[in-house]
Amino acid sequence: MTEHADVQKEPSMVLQKEMIAAHYKALEEAPQTGKKLVYTFVPGNLNELIRCFDNLLPVHPEINALQNAMRKRTGQMILDAEKLGHSEDVCTYVKADIGMLRKGNIGPAGTKIPDPGLLLLSYTGCFTFMKWFELLREEYNAPVAMLHTPYQADGKIHGNMRDYMVKQLKEEVIPKLEQVSGKKFDIDKLREMLQRSREAEDHLVAVFEAAKRRPSPIDAYFGGVYYIGPIFSAFRGTPGAVEYYRQLHAEVDERANRKLGPITPEGEMGAEKYRLVVEGPPNWTSFRDFWKMFYDEGAVVVASTYSKVGGLYDEGFRHDPAHPLETLADYCCGCYTNLNLPSRVALISKYVQEYGADGFLINSIKSCNSFSAGQLLILREVEKRTGVAGGFVESDLVDPRYFSGANIKNRLESYFQMLDQKRKGAA
Ligand code: SF4
Repeated sequence: MTEHADVQKEPSMVLQKEMIAAHYKALEEAPQTGKKLVYTFVPGNLNELIRCFDNLLPVHPEINALQNAMRKRTGQMILDAEKLGHSEDVCTYVKADIGMLRKGNIGPAGTKIPDPGLLLLSYTGCFTFMKWFELLREEYNAPVAMLHTPYQADGKIHGNMRDYMVKQLKEEVIPKLEQVSGKKFDIDKLREMLQRSREAEDHLVAVFEAAKRRPSPIDAYFGGVYYIGPIFSAFRGTPGAVEYYRQLHAEVDERANRKLGPITPEGEMGAEKYRLVVEGPPNWTSFRDFWKMFYDEGAVVVASTYSKVGGLYDEGFRHDPAHPLETLADYCCGCYTNLNLPSRVALISKYVQEYGADGFLINSIKSCNSFSAGQLLILREVEKRTGVAGGFVESDLVDPRYFSGANIKNRLESYFQMLDQKRKGAA
């Protein structure tokens, strides 16, 4: 399947597209407007802190990579990076980024993304984040600020972890942001942004929880990646994000009340046959082909871990304007990439039960160690605890060489047949 010219879009998707286009435009124009760019990662991003300096704009290299992949541009970028010596096993987001950079840093919007004023490394559990910014540090003449998030080794956030993070924010991150921006940090502006984050987060949780209804009005994985777009990237804390989530929430409520299923790129989804929980990031180079393999079979994803990669709001966390720095610390500690295996197993098992899933599927990403390590153990444990059948497919993030459509389709078809047989056996 090639890219569709007449893809069906929900109104909130149109709004999001406009927000993203405006952001890339602002990045492009930064040298003229005097804004400075802060390159930083999605999990554990400090968007409110960056944007409360009103002359700073965030850039997320993972978003550039996935946006480029959806436009089928990453294959060549990855080959270019491999020619420079980056191994086949390196996270393909990194190679897509290096490949893009070497060809003039032309971003997904087709315009140049200016150089960073600051490299802000928010480290949340994935070692690749560090190696990636080491590479960028060699490429750019920009200062680096590092925020080290302690791993949730025992599945909890302790007071000393929070204190350690707040100290880094005060002594390392905020001074560097002030230096690059040339402005003083204003904690009241940060509070205002956090209040807006909180509002948007309430709407997002309601959207994801709507998938408990039957039929589910949303697909929490393929649709879910759009729903998390603004909140996990450049927009959390902005009025635009509140407006987007208010609109999305209203749309989803309306679909739920009318007992409609999700909208797919080809229009309304047919009858809901299978309810799944999915673990792992999606494949971006063949995103629509992959999605089609589900909706053609009547399979809807009711919960996914990837849509929690930048924060587990459904577990109760909200940004708290009353404790601005502590709340940023808790946010970073709570990212999915910072959770240990027992926490991941417990979370997925809970999703299977609370969302009434018939199955649990892993999309194992070849080049993402942070998600893929331990997935077979997760699979066995979740099956044991919930009694639902697990399935396993493999692909990659943004490397088109590792999406074997025929293989994945075969595996999914056999998996759905197995779910049918289990159902007949239980009847
Ligand atoms: S290895 Fe996975 S979590 Fe780490 S940077 Fe790459 S995609 Fe992100």
